[in-house]
Amino acid sequence: MTVEASDNRPVLLAYDTGTHAIIWCTHCRCWHAHGRGRGGSDSDGHRVAHCHRPNSPYDRSGYVLRFIGPATAELLQDLKRRKPKGIHT
Ligand SMILES: [Zn+2]
Repeated sequence: MTVEASDNRPVLLAYDTGTHAIIWCTHCRCWHAHGRGRGGSDSDGHRVAHCHRPNSPYDRSGYVLRFIGPATAELLQDLKRRKPKGIHT
């Protein structure tokens, strides 16, 4: 799910893996991992995009992480896939 923030930066739902805050990037079709601070909502906030796809719209805007909960076992498994399925909303 992508929600437009008031400053037009996309807001992405972040899951806490215990070591990182991860978000599903619909442009790269992969998970991007970011530092999680002290964990949970402490990792919320604006980040520089970790996109590796050229001309990703996130490259210019970055995105805002919004902690939604701990990563589920299913999600952690998907994280290890060469071609992850991501989250479908
Ligand atoms: Zn990306």
